[in-house]
Amino acid sequence: MYYKIIPVFNGSFSIDFAGIFGVRQNDFPFNPVIRNSPSLVFLLIDENEKALLVDTGFDEKYIWGFPPHASFQREEKDLLPLALSAHGYQPEDISTVIITHLHWDHTGGMKYFPNAHFFVQVAEFKTLTELETKKETAYHPEHWLPLLSQLRLVNGDIELRPGINLLFTGGHTPGHQAVEINTRSGPVILGGDLLFDYTSLWEDLSPDTWERLKTGPGKDMFWKKDLAERINKWFSEQETGKRQSESVPGIKKLESRGARVLFSHDPKLINTGIIE
Ligand SMILES: [Zn+2]
Repeated sequence: MYYKIIPVFNGSFSIDFAGIFGVRQNDFPFNPVIRNSPSLVFLLIDENEKALLVDTGFDEKYIWGFPPHASFQREEKDLLPLALSAHGYQPEDISTVIITHLHWDHTGGMKYFPNAHFFVQVAEFKTLTELETKKETAYHPEHWLPLLSQLRLVNGDIELRPGINLLFTGGHTPGHQAVEINTRSGPVILGGDLLFDYTSLWEDLSPDTWERLKTGPGKDMFWKKDLAERINKWFSEQETGKRQSESVPGIKKLESRGARVLFSHDPKLINTGIIE
């Protein structure tokens, strides 16, 4: 089976990490300002015109951080349901959504898909059951807690259907996955956020700095009280199987497959048009 891939732009966001933590830009080992980072989801259309989706973009109500150090830019036409209908699809038409990882900017639109199963790696979900408090801020489980019955856990590399492989990569998050798609012009891999490494955000800022965030203006970024319990309970009831592959994970794994690789926040993809 061959697929067409349509990168769908659903707005962009800006985050000033230095402002959020109230520290100097020089205290960061990386550039602490993300400016107008575009958010893209990918519509996959098979030869029968049936559509699948990869990721669901961000929700305006949860941008990592707080104003004025975190903001979004989104025109109404770029709201996910409208952006999809511009390509002839309604959210209800979509029965398969692949989630590369559960960070807040990939799960924000899950609520629009009442008829979909959401495919997520076991390792990604397991991570949430053993998460350090500071890392809670990168996930917004409210996006998918009401949808747990629609979640489908996969473990390692699998052929989701002819022409679409899910590739376990880890890296950006411990259970990150990429999506390999068969197109008429050759294989294409959607590499999610594998380009980004936020290790230093989590490791290099002092515990005091995090504590200031948690007890100060950033308190709403942390999980509400019973949330971890609900996640643990659901996960403990799932069949998780055994991971099918243990090849070299990360970006090397993608390079070794000889496919064109596209990433979720690449400004060049906004006007790329259809890849086929
Ligand atoms: Zn992202």
